[in-house]
Amino acid sequence: MTQPQNKPSFNLRFLLVTALLALLAILFIYAIHYDGAFFSVILFSQLFVLAALLYFRRYLEKEITEIHLKKEEYLEEINLLNLDLKKEELTRKSLFQRVEAYARLKSLAEKLSLCATHLQAAEILADRVSELFSGDRTTTLLYLSYPTTGDLGLVVAVKKGSRIQILSKKGDMFDAWVVKNLKPLLIESARTDFRFDAEKNAPLKDDREYASLIAVPLMVGVKILGVLRVDSPEEKYFSTDDLRFLSRIADLGAVSLESAQLYEHLQDLAIKDGLTGLYLRRYLWDRMSEELPRQLRRKQEMSLLMMDLDHFKKYNDRFGHVAGDIVLRTLSDLLIKHFQQPGNIVCRYGGEEFAVMLPDCSKTQAQALAEDFRAQIAQAEIVLRREKTTITVSIGIASFPSDAQIKEELVQKADQALYAAKQKGRNKVCLA
Ligand code: GH3
Ligand code: MG
Ligand code: MG
Repeated sequence: MTQPQNKPSFNLRFLLVTALLALLAILFIYAIHYDGAFFSVILFSQLFVLAALLYFRRYLEKEITEIHLKKEEYLEEINLLNLDLKKEELTRKSLFQRVEAYARLKSLAEKLSLCATHLQAAEILADRVSELFSGDRTTTLLYLSYPTTGDLGLVVAVKKGSRIQILSKKGDMFDAWVVKNLKPLLIESARTDFRFDAEKNAPLKDDREYASLIAVPLMVGVKILGVLRVDSPEEKYFSTDDLRFLSRIADLGAVSLESAQLYEHLQDLAIKDGLTGLYLRRYLWDRMSEELPRQLRRKQEMSLLMMDLDHFKKYNDRFGHVAGDIVLRTLSDLLIKHFQQPGNIVCRYGGEEFAVMLPDCSKTQAQALAEDFRAQIAQAEIVLRREKTTITVSIGIASFPSDAQIKEELVQKADQALYAAKQKGRNKVCLA
């Protein structure tokens, strides 16, 4: 610590000393020449004053040194207090940031808890992360793992608060690293990070570039649900604090994603068949109750297909029940593919019987669709224990409101048409 020096004015001192010496000299000359006694008085009094001055000077010097020491001590104390103040300020700031971050997490948790589907939860999560890491050029990506293969699939991509299209739907090597190691990842430079192959680090053939990123696994316990990632075209854009915060969000999000998935699964169990994944009969009845008045209002025709496998008992007897189940599943997949238009309901009506509700579909259109399907099944080869097998279906069709006025009657008419198809030798489509 430098201290200001109070430099005395030398000129003034010099003048004073010179004046004093001059006065003394005059008094001495006067005393020597005119008064010997006065000379000794002056001499002694001068010596006394000199001694007193010397003593007083030493006292003053001591005082000044003490004052300087005190001053040093105070300055030191001020410095320490300033340092403490700065530390306090930093702690206060980081506490404030933490409180703010937790408030954001709390509002995110509240929003997530209201989600009915896991896709909704994924969208809310990605939107919130995009807001929190609100750089203009950052991109937030949320991938979910397919339960069967474990592969990643892009669910949401957000930039500047809007959804964007990304070409790489399965993630890149950084996302794969997160899935493999189940750890958060901070990449300061995607091109030069020594942990990754420099060749592969070249930007992907995508419509965006990134130079740095943070990515964290979405995990519940030891189960990985997906990857949450934010990337930026700027190098060293993210800090370890950012990564830590993203991990916290991911922990929160993963729990919500899983509970939404479980809820959906429970709902599916209530309305879907376990073997084929098709809707159950009860669900078809509910949907028909809603759909018939709508068709009436819009003056539209709705058709209902009832379908039954031919001689399925024999098939079971010959190849076994397990093989029969495989056939039922294969047929269900083909049914969904064939009648996949929005609004259609494909349902396992019971055993080896299926029903398809086709809103806004005339009887003639339904007949054409059913005929196509019947022919497709008759030609399909199902390989069981290296043996090629075939199966046929019979289909009955009834339409609303031309054949029936209420759902029970519609089902009955379609059933009767199905019976007629069986009577005509099976592998047929019959109309009510
Ligand atoms: P038809 O051409 O007259 O319909 O002859 P069918 O043998 O198909 O008719 P039936 O109603 O007598 O037999 C239906 C068979 O479907 C009996 C049952 O073993 C089989 N089945 C029903 N549900 C399942 C199932 O979930 N899995 C398997 N493997 N078979 C089933
Ligand atoms: Mg049958
Ligand atoms: Mg049957």
